[in-house]
Amino acid sequence: MGQLFAVEVIYRGVFQKTLAKNITRGIVLAAHNEGKLGISFGRYSDAPERNGIPAKSFAIVANDEETLEAGMAQYEPKQVDVTVVLDDTLCKGAESWAWSGLQPVHRALKPGHTLIVISLDDAPALLKNIHRRKEPYKLGIVRGVTSFSGMWVYKDDHTDVRILGAIAKALPAVMSLESVEKFINEKLKNSLKVTTARNAFERFTTIGVKAGEGNPEEVVKVGLPRWEDMRCGVSIKGQGQGGPFADPVTGEVGGFRPVRNELFTKYSARTQRPVVNFATCTKCTLCWLNCPDGAFDITTAGTYDTNFEACSGCGICEEICPVKNCITMVNEDEFHDNNSQWAAFEKDKGAYLKWLEATIKKADPIKNRSHGFRYRGQYQEQVPEAMEIANKG
Ligand code: SF4
Ligand code: SF4
Repeated sequence: MGQLFAVEVIYRGVFQKTLAKNITRGIVLAAHNEGKLGISFGRYSDAPERNGIPAKSFAIVANDEETLEAGMAQYEPKQVDVTVVLDDTLCKGAESWAWSGLQPVHRALKPGHTLIVISLDDAPALLKNIHRRKEPYKLGIVRGVTSFSGMWVYKDDHTDVRILGAIAKALPAVMSLESVEKFINEKLKNSLKVTTARNAFERFTTIGVKAGEGNPEEVVKVGLPRWEDMRCGVSIKGQGQGGPFADPVTGEVGGFRPVRNELFTKYSARTQRPVVNFATCTKCTLCWLNCPDGAFDITTAGTYDTNFEACSGCGICEEICPVKNCITMVNEDEFHDNNSQWAAFEKDKGAYLKWLEATIKKADPIKNRSHGFRYRGQYQEQVPEAMEIANKG
């Protein structure tokens, strides 16, 4: 048997599907230039085509046909030589197959191998989210804003070739920089992209992450139902109506909480989350009525408090809210808990409003929207900014 290499690319479903496909396809075609054989393929989690759902693309490469076939016999590689994370909010973990729980992003990475993350953050900031593991590994950051495009448009900001350049450095046994350049010249026919890939190769460095270093939280585990838990026949469980609940601040029972599907958790589906200014909210109900996930709880005070175990971060509430800057979507990276915003506001209004202002300012949500766009053409406008960061390295 020859040598088998596997690279996985973890990305946000729909928003980054084409980008991930381009990267894994590029790996295979660059490796072909060295006489190696390979295949790239994608695998969605349980909710195909849902915006933002963590998903994976793979490239497997081998020196001979027999080895490649052995690798292809697996549904997906159990161990990989390089893991690439295209959206740094995924460092909190990926919900693969959703209801079986959260998986650390380096779960399949071989000990001592390389995790590549696209981010403007530094390693200590990323390691606040990346779970610790028993084995050491290397962390390499490709500096850049998260590249989102969406279903119908593709933001060609050279993220694909930057990642190829970084992989060539991290795993030269799968493909050299020369093979990446040949692939770009022959298939993409873009000499500027060759330069970008070379720059990424030259700048790419890694740091060693020790065993036990990183986010100490236990990953969320959701047990699969056992056979004796299953009901007879084929049936779809209906959901109840919901009802009053205890206000997180006063404990007073009232308001309204919809019933939510306990099997469909959203620990990692979000790239951004709404931050609500309760001081300017007019209680108009529009956010509650339009939220596709029924994520708002109505408090006894008549305000709408986002329940972050239900919110998928779609941004509709921000768009629909008639009060200027009352709801603002902020990058998920800024948050480390799912606590009630209403409770924080009621506890100390001044402190909450200060926090709100600082959080919104820091994340600059209008400039750095993680996905979705307010007007057509916004993605294209973001390309020069992404290129500038890429050129600075
Ligand atoms: S972002 Fe807003 S509309 Fe979308 S799921 Fe979350 S609370 Fe609901
Ligand atoms: S849409 Fe805006 S103003 Fe209306 S209830 Fe929701 S947060 Fe308040």
